[in-house]
Amino acid sequence: MARIAFIGLGNMGGPMAANLVKAGHDVTGFDLASTVLKAAAESGVKPASHASQAVKGAEIILTMLPQGKHVLTAWADILQSADKGTLVIDCSTIDVESSRKAHELARGAGCLSLDAPVSGGTGGATAGTLTFIAGGSDESFAKAKPILEAMGKKIVHCGEAGAGQAAKICNNMILGISMIGVCEAFVLAEKLGLEHQALFDVASTSSGQCWSINSYCPVPGPVPASPANNDYKPGFAAALMLKDLRLSQEAALASGASTPLGAEAAQLYALFEKLGNGGKDFSAIIEMFRNRE
Ligand code: NAD
Repeated sequence: MARIAFIGLGNMGGPMAANLVKAGHDVTGFDLASTVLKAAAESGVKPASHASQAVKGAEIILTMLPQGKHVLTAWADILQSADKGTLVIDCSTIDVESSRKAHELARGAGCLSLDAPVSGGTGGATAGTLTFIAGGSDESFAKAKPILEAMGKKIVHCGEAGAGQAAKICNNMILGISMIGVCEAFVLAEKLGLEHQALFDVASTSSGQCWSINSYCPVPGPVPASPANNDYKPGFAAALMLKDLRLSQEAALASGASTPLGAEAAQLYALFEKLGNGGKDFSAIIEMFRNRE
């Protein structure tokens, strides 16, 4: 059993902290929102009145916050109160540059650090089946692994500081691009009078196969568990896909990588959000292509 501090107890952090409690850890939590902190207390998290209070005496500190700027502010604050040698893990999805800066802050304070963004959404956070995509030293990863296993089913070490964030945004750039490709193919099939099931049967078993069609088909019918069968309730909200695509484009600009389809995908999801669809599942973008006739 470890003494853990959890900062950021929102849609993801709340259920993740609850799973740490279920696994027998002693978890103290803090969130700026009092309603969220109260909900976490109901699942056995000890509420703290400030982040610095939560981290006092903690062996492991986790953060699950919206963006890089929140992580850097929170880490600068908590590292002043953390004991030397404490492991600080950031599970938020943030830009690679801020993530590397956060690692530097931790090193400066004599702490171990890991970036460990997740895949699996709120369903995975609740079920304890998240995938953690980690970056940091071997020592940090080895210490973090048994803790992360209480919240996830797959823990992957991608490399040094920032490598977890880099792998996550590269993966999600593939996902955004492939979903748009699959949606375009279904819209074309409709125009050509081809049944959804017929296109699915061919593409899902031949060279068109990918996760966006095989597991998350954007039209109702072929894959019963896909959000298309549930009025496009997320799932993975289009606003979060847009966030990740924007992070990929910031990283492409900073590193000089050429990602024209990533840029186009970011623009299309920005338009989709502007049309009021940010809360829908990201596969609902098929509706925008149908309406573009
Ligand atoms: P959320 O907005 O529900 O939760 C974030 C919480 O952080 C809020 O409760 C907020 O009050 C708190 N917060 C902000 N600044 C703080 C600070 N300085 N100190 C303490 N608390 C602070 O967001 P979420 O959906 O839980 O997402 C968190 C992160 O996980 C994001 O980076 C997101 O991109 C990533 N993520 C989300 C999902 C998803 O499906 N929701 C999936 C994968 C990754």
